[in-house]
Amino acid sequence: MGFKKGNIPWNAGKKGLQIAWNKGKKLPNNEGSGNSNYKGEQELEYKHAHAVVAKLYGKPQKCELCGRTDAIRYEWANVTGYMGRARENWMRMDKACHYKFDKVLERKMRNEKGQFIK
Ligand SMILES: [Zn+2]
Repeated sequence: MGFKKGNIPWNAGKKGLQIAWNKGKKLPNNEGSGNSNYKGEQELEYKHAHAVVAKLYGKPQKCELCGRTDAIRYEWANVTGYMGRARENWMRMDKACHYKFDKVLERKMRNEKGQFIK
């Protein structure tokens, strides 16, 4: 839609009460579309997830657990078991913290995708 230059608007020159061009016409039925098309956030594949998160949130050189900034290596750790893009599923950790963190999580069951089984 949109007017091309030089086109006269449908209501040009009319004054007062105007009848809408679509009066009496049924508007397209939007039921069933819209929200139902929203399938929610798709989970990332475990093997790609860390790379996607690094692209989204960069590679901060700071551990969110212990706060150190001088570690040799930092990694994104999945902290929820949900491989979503949302920042809250991830924490930036130095390697040592990540290791410790994963040790704790090891006690939880994971499925073949690396997701926690609740
Ligand atoms: Zn740390």
